[in-house]
Amino acid sequence: DNVSEGSSVAVIGLGRFGQSVALELMANGSEVLGIDDREEIVQSLNNKLTHVVRANATHPDVLDQLGITDFDRVVVAIGTHLESSILVTSYLLRAGVENIWAKAVSDQHGVILQQLGVRNVVFPEKDMGKRVAHLLQGDLKEFI
Ligand code: ATP
Repeated sequence: DNVSEGSSVAVIGLGRFGQSVALELMANGSEVLGIDDREEIVQSLNNKLTHVVRANATHPDVLDQLGITDFDRVVVAIGTHLESSILVTSYLLRAGVENIWAKAVSDQHGVILQQLGVRNVVFPEKDMGKRVAHLLQGDLKEFI
């Protein structure tokens, strides 16, 4: 499938980071399935994503039922709930999902995700801190 437009992405965890990723993907033409186990989050995003499902993503049968392996990309946007992040990610890897993007809330979390086999680990606070530092120094090309 196409890399940008028209692709399908599942975003697991719709906290601040996951919502931001999901809404930006929608704005740029992707189909987005959002998954979160909090009712109020699911309700607030109901008409804003292609599909929003309230479910505990640590249950493999839930992810199977949602056809998670059919998605071009899966974003694991769970952070503070470290155990959930690791369980969900290891299941996705076992299920053969190739294009996984996972967020890490600490260096240690990042090491675990990388050791599991995730190629795209993102560190939102750390990365944004670096970008802000470049912006503060007027180094605009680094900010792109
Ligand atoms: P933020 O992006 O807001 O900084 P965070 O790093 O604090 O989030 P968490 O609070 O651990 O991350 O999780 C983000 C979202 O993922 C929350 O909305 C939470 O309800 C959801 N979530 C956590 N565990 C699961 C799970 N097992 N199944 C589905 N959703 C989950």
